[in-house]
Amino acid sequence: MGSSAITVSLPETYEPEDWHLYARCLNVGDTELFFKPSKERNAKRLCKECPVVEACLTAALREEDGYAYRYGVRGGLNPIERRNLERRRFLERRRG
Ligand code: SF4
Repeated sequence: MGSSAITVSLPETYEPEDWHLYARCLNVGDTELFFKPSKERNAKRLCKECPVVEACLTAALREEDGYAYRYGVRGGLNPIERRNLERRRFLERRRG
């Protein structure tokens, strides 16, 4: 994979706002991994193993809400996938 991620175990209990402390990408040395399209597959592989992927995706969707620009892989999804997920959820809420 070419990254030097350190596996961080999720404790049984932790403060929800501290989710980022358990991120699989916390100590990844390759700063381009999550932002370079050619490395997207490897970034997503890391996200797939990440114990806080749901919290990460939730944070990304919340932070990007209303913004046209999204960058990088977050929560296992690239910017287009996150935008599409946001639209699907919006349409589902409208349908009730
Ligand atoms: S899910 Fe989020 S926190 Fe986890 S590795 Fe991916 S980008 Fe990092």
